[in-house]
Amino acid sequence: MSRPSTEQAVLQDISANTTEEQFKQVADELKHAHPIDIIRWGVEQIGASAITLACSFGYEDVALVDMVSKVDPEVDIFYLDTNLHFSETYEVRDRLRKRYPLNFIRVTPALTLEEQAAEYGDELWKRDPDQCCRMRKVEPLKQILSGYQGWITGIRREQSITRAHTEVVEWDAGFGLIKLNPLAFWTTEQVWSYIHEHNIPYNRLHDQNYPSIGCFPCTRQVKPGEDPRAGRWAGSTKTECGLHNSLVK
Ligand code: SF4
Repeated sequence: MSRPSTEQAVLQDISANTTEEQFKQVADELKHAHPIDIIRWGVEQIGASAITLACSFGYEDVALVDMVSKVDPEVDIFYLDTNLHFSETYEVRDRLRKRYPLNFIRVTPALTLEEQAAEYGDELWKRDPDQCCRMRKVEPLKQILSGYQGWITGIRREQSITRAHTEVVEWDAGFGLIKLNPLAFWTTEQVWSYIHEHNIPYNRLHDQNYPSIGCFPCTRQVKPGEDPRAGRWAGSTKTECGLHNSLVK
């Protein structure tokens, strides 16, 4: 997809003048705004039907579901169903669907788990997690994002060193669309305060030392003092599933 062309002035300028610098300028202007206002800005710029929220049902994402519902319930919310989520994750999905009258889109991989096992062997995640993530997450993500001009994510600077330079609005060169990270500058405490203040359903695994929750074969509890993402792909050098970095091809 080429750079976006919208009717709105700010993004038109960015589009016309290209480059990261323009995005950086907008990001700097927006970075102190409340995440709801950042979402509102993005929806106004891009259009409610052209922007979507990526939801993995972690605590940042449930806060964003609430915020999106307040800005415009026409915004789609999608989740990547690898068929390998914890039952608690499906449970919070169902609670959110009950509470919010939003369009939750289930996105699935091309191969079922059985088909994947037949073609690549059992438990591919143990031998080649990058390939497993590519098939079960990145390719389906690429597919769903091809229908939009912008996406909203729960990435925060505090989450890891690899996310420390996240801006509230960026050009996502990997997928070819605008990326909004409204929580980029929020702390863990700020997100949880928002959740409690608004009584938003959240994954109860968070109360059992799972600060970051992905597929069950690749997620474990963290110990006191460990990095919040230490429970993801523990024991390997992998730190990201590829949705926000290099597995995009
Ligand atoms: Fe596969 Fe693990 Fe990636 Fe899930 S997180 S897609 S199980 S490698």
